[in-house]
Amino acid sequence: MKELLKSLVQADTTTDKGELAAAEIISGHLQEHGIEAELTCWDDTRANIVAHIKSTGQRPALLFACHLDVVPPGQGRWKYPPFSATEEDSRVFGRGAADMKGSIAALITAVEQFTAEEAELKGDIIIAAVAGEETDSCGIKRFVKDYKDKLPPIAGVIVAEPTNFEVITAHRGLLWLEVVTKGRTAHGSMPHLGVNAINSMRLFLDEVEKINLASEKHPLLGGCSMSINTISGGKAVNVVPDLCSVKFDIRTVPNQSHAEIIEKFESVFSQLKKNNPEFDAEVKVVRDVEALETDKDCDFMKDFRSVVDCKETITAGFCTDGPFLAGLGAPIVIFGPGNDELAHKPDEYIELSDLKKAVDVYKKIMTEYNR
Ligand SMILES: [Zn+2]
Repeated sequence: MKELLKSLVQADTTTDKGELAAAEIISGHLQEHGIEAELTCWDDTRANIVAHIKSTGQRPALLFACHLDVVPPGQGRWKYPPFSATEEDSRVFGRGAADMKGSIAALITAVEQFTAEEAELKGDIIIAAVAGEETDSCGIKRFVKDYKDKLPPIAGVIVAEPTNFEVITAHRGLLWLEVVTKGRTAHGSMPHLGVNAINSMRLFLDEVEKINLASEKHPLLGGCSMSINTISGGKAVNVVPDLCSVKFDIRTVPNQSHAEIIEKFESVFSQLKKNNPEFDAEVKVVRDVEALETDKDCDFMKDFRSVVDCKETITAGFCTDGPFLAGLGAPIVIFGPGNDELAHKPDEYIELSDLKKAVDVYKKIMTEYNR
């Protein structure tokens, strides 16, 4: 398993490089253990890999969801090269070691051991390792599109992100919006001949602050938040700008409609247009991930919590691909080895003892759903 993890970390799967190399490593490893997997590749380097281990179908299936991609190593200094997968002090260091190639290596090992030990499965086990979780969730969206008609009834979905073996059942959603105001250039000395896009943005920002996004506060996740985090506009000090762009990071709570938020933005546009006929703006969705909330007391979660010995579930500060699987109609839980606080930072690592523990726990979960 350690070698599998190392080769996965060494396969640089930042968005530019794509996920194909890691998907091929997994496919080869599974094949050596007699498990077939389906590799889907697009745009030359992007890839999903799905292993569907069939059973007698007496019980509903378990779906494990992972992501193959990693975030770039960043500007910070690394003790070891980020794609070297250096082992030291019973840890493997490298980008993705915790988020989440450690989890993938453990899961692949668990399913290989489990299927070798069990003569017959009662419920299917499906492992989907997908592209693009860190950027646009292209992989999970493709998985749902390609597989939703092929999947058996599912008992539960386990998103194997690093949670330090804590059980996460909820996180806020994410809606990133870009607003662009459009104007008309003119010489800076004759601004009345143009339409100043930065002025239009100023008008919009004054109004957008008045939008009340704070729907009911969620008991575990708190309220919705909105932050304006980038702004750009104007080319030269003597030219009236014809474009200005602002990006919003909005974090939503469960059951809050993202479409409604966009409509509110658009209604501010119409309002402003009434008083300023030359006002022109549009809103684009940069990224859209719904919030997640799973009933920790549903049947699946009761069983799951007892298998992993969890008293209290927690919420996550980060987003996952989980909400994209909501359409499958199964409870979704986030659970895996590794410390999420190490994710996206220099000197990311995973403890080898955590990997071992993860193999055991994942096997225990598979056993529970095959009894
Ligand atoms: Zn992750």
